[in-house]
Amino acid sequence: KLVCVTGASGYIASWIVKFLLQRGYTVRATVRNPNNLRKVEHLLKLEGAEERLHLLKADLLSENSFDSIVDGCDGVFHTASPFFNNVKDPQAELIDPAVKGTLNVLKSCAKSSSVKRVVLTSSVAAVAYNERPKTPEVVVDETWFSNSDYCRELKLWYLLSKTLAEEAAWKFSKENNLDLVSVNPAMVVGPLLQAELNTSAATILNLIDGSETFPNSTYGWINVKDVANAHIQAYEIASASGRYCLVERVAHFSELAKILKDLYPTYQIPEKSADDKPYVPTFQVSKEKAKSLGLEFIPLEVSLKETVESLKEKNFANF
Ligand code: NDP
Repeated sequence: KLVCVTGASGYIASWIVKFLLQRGYTVRATVRNPNNLRKVEHLLKLEGAEERLHLLKADLLSENSFDSIVDGCDGVFHTASPFFNNVKDPQAELIDPAVKGTLNVLKSCAKSSSVKRVVLTSSVAAVAYNERPKTPEVVVDETWFSNSDYCRELKLWYLLSKTLAEEAAWKFSKENNLDLVSVNPAMVVGPLLQAELNTSAATILNLIDGSETFPNSTYGWINVKDVANAHIQAYEIASASGRYCLVERVAHFSELAKILKDLYPTYQIPEKSADDKPYVPTFQVSKEKAKSLGLEFIPLEVSLKETVESLKEKNFANF
């Protein structure tokens, strides 16, 4: 079967492409610049790539650029979206590519008679950020939606971009009768296939690379292989529908630091928080729906070890 993966050079998408090729699919993989070897070389080396991987150029913001790419595909995995924290112009750098890009891809899918399902890479960013308190007894699940006004007020631009993109996607899919499933991972960790450092792996690099403090933040964490598998299951399982939160464990950075210190006792791991405030409390994220996709839920300890080993192997870490 023929499928399409947008933003194929990225951290999560590279694993989706790898697993799709392993399962025998033919993959149309979109990237902004197929000639940028640093970004695509790892894809070309994947098993099955020579026979069944087609790299195609497409930009999220150029209209109709996905038309001929998705046409002929049975499934489309839309992962492309910028994930950065330090932005100067949030509208241009994050919100437009996320929202307009998603609508651009979905429009092409709606025009094609071949596309049976679209799997959207959304995020816990589009689920858990609203006025509702998050404390250890609170269980966040797929019925939660982030509040765009709340994100805007707090200048949480990446969260805002993902929230608006997912909202726009559901609206479009309902109006156009498009079969859409969203996958909503928390912070993704685990081995990197790509050569460029992505934002979530960078948070782990920061913990082992000589920082004196860890951020006073609490996030959900999930392994990239579970995330990639969830995308493929969400496409293959006919009864899959709606949203799927993917979180193995919610943990404050102090807990990550502890795990890393146990794994790597000789490394300089930060022991204090970046501020004097009480630690941001933990909360729970329901695994019930995600379990129906048959995930492994690789434990955080294993995911962190895999991340660090990968960062070392790729010379991102200074040792
Ligand atoms: P990466 O930064 O590794 O990949 C992002 C991809 O998006 C790149 O392949 C990039 O393509 C593409 N992209 C960005 N801007 C544009 C644009 N204007 N036009 C075309 N392509 C663009 O990130 P991740 O793998 O981490 O993220 C992938 C998806 O997963 C995103 O939707 C992100 O929001 C979501 N996500 C990530 C989480 C994480 O912790 N990593 C958690 C939850 C969700 P190119 O190579 O061509 O530049």
